[in-house]
Amino acid sequence: EDRPISAEAQPDDARDKALRPLSFAEFVGQPAAISNLKVFVEAARRREEALDHVLLSGPPGLGKTTLAQIVARELGVGFRATSGPVIARAGDLAAILTNLEPRDVLFIDEIHRLAPVVEEILYPAMEDFCLDLVIGEGPAARTVRIDLPPFTLVGATTRAGLLATPLRDRFGVPVRLEFYDVKELTGIVSRAARRIGSEATEDGAAEIAKRARGTPRVAGRLLRRVRDFAEADGSEIIDAAVADKALKRLEVDEIGLDSLDRRYLNALIHHFSGGPVGMDTMAASLAEARDALEDVVEPFLIQQGFIQRTPRGRTATARAYAHLGLDAPKTLQS
Ligand code: ADP
Repeated sequence: EDRPISAEAQPDDARDKALRPLSFAEFVGQPAAISNLKVFVEAARRREEALDHVLLSGPPGLGKTTLAQIVARELGVGFRATSGPVIARAGDLAAILTNLEPRDVLFIDEIHRLAPVVEEILYPAMEDFCLDLVIGEGPAARTVRIDLPPFTLVGATTRAGLLATPLRDRFGVPVRLEFYDVKELTGIVSRAARRIGSEATEDGAAEIAKRARGTPRVAGRLLRRVRDFAEADGSEIIDAAVADKALKRLEVDEIGLDSLDRRYLNALIHHFSGGPVGMDTMAASLAEARDALEDVVEPFLIQQGFIQRTPRGRTATARAYAHLGLDAPKTLQS
């Protein structure tokens, strides 16, 4: 299902490549991460050495790929991108590594999904800039050592907890990205609007920002949809009223919940008296896949304090009742 508020990348998002900030100066938000990275990038550049390996972690759509590109640009080196699930065999990674120029940035997205055999050859590559490749099989097998140019691995993961400890320990610069606040997202929306040749007022941009779930990717997508509606209506400027009307038509409410989120909360409250209810029962009642609910619906509802995962199943909080305009049961009022 193509949900406008999903933080996962969608095919249509390729269009906002042109919107990516290209330098630290253009990058809005993440002040802690940026100030750290700037120091290390500057030092590596002065010494003309490869930057230490960087691990970017955080939910999808917060700017991990964008930051990796910015790091390469600010270092003045080449950028090569791949992803964990794409590198199936050790030889695939060896081919990439041996083709790097000295000090290049190699970006591996979803690095927690690397195959164990690939991870194993990555360790000496990261630590000593060399590859130990096994040639041949059985008694004739031998190991050859290949020297690599010094490079910077920038790994990205949505699940830092899933990373094997030896891999995690090899990143000298761990960076955690956080959800953006409304002010930062308003800035991002205003800038993106100018870039796509439309005009948003401060209030219009804020209206979109409030519903973007703390996520620039969602903000960019909502902006494009709002612009489509605005154009269809003949509105030239995206102000608060135009944005609000378009977002209502997209069924994205004032805090960024969409119709599936609300269906979830309504089912939990009306069919299951607010829970606890098991995940399979919930999935069946909504006619949705259990995985999809767990991966794309529940994280935001939990983060916003609308539901809780308990050992006996999901329960609705007083906040969920309030958001749907319902009175919470006595047991939840304190
Ligand atoms: P991730 O790799 O974490 O999933 P991306 O780097 O692909 O996220 O960013 C998703 C989208 O959001 C991109 O279109 C990017 O241009 C935009 N974006 C991310 N962070 C920022 C930011 N700080 N300022 C402006 N746009 C951003």
